[in-house]
Amino acid sequence: MTYTITNNCIACDRCLPQCPTKAISVKGQTYQIDSNLCNGCVGFYSVPQCQAVCPTNNGCVRRLSAIASSEDYWESWFNTYNHLVTRISKTKPDPYWQKWFNTYSQELKKVIVSR
Ligand code: SF4
Ligand code: SF4
Repeated sequence: MTYTITNNCIACDRCLPQCPTKAISVKGQTYQIDSNLCNGCVGFYSVPQCQAVCPTNNGCVRRLSAIASSEDYWESWFNTYNHLVTRISKTKPDPYWQKWFNTYSQELKKVIVSR
């Protein structure tokens, strides 16, 4: 199981020396995990050490597969949203409700003006 570091990382440097496979590297202030080297600490520790020592409450060390599935979720959500907006914008307004709304707003305006 491969892990990754997200942009919530605060560059505290705690994870770097803990990785048993030397999968973590740093470029400037950016920490990253080499997915070819990370094995989730299997065979070394019972929990991923980078996640265990990270002070951000696992906010920046995540399983790669979990990130991929949450991206799938939002991609699907936006596709559905865009599809519905396109459908609604192509729908002609119902004349009944348009008339109802016009009448209602005019009556409401009269009430407000008379106060
Ligand atoms: S899960 Fe383990 S092997 Fe993978 S980057 Fe973190 S400390 Fe290294
Ligand atoms: S322990 Fe967490 S916050 Fe600190 S450098 Fe590693 S990933 Fe970033």
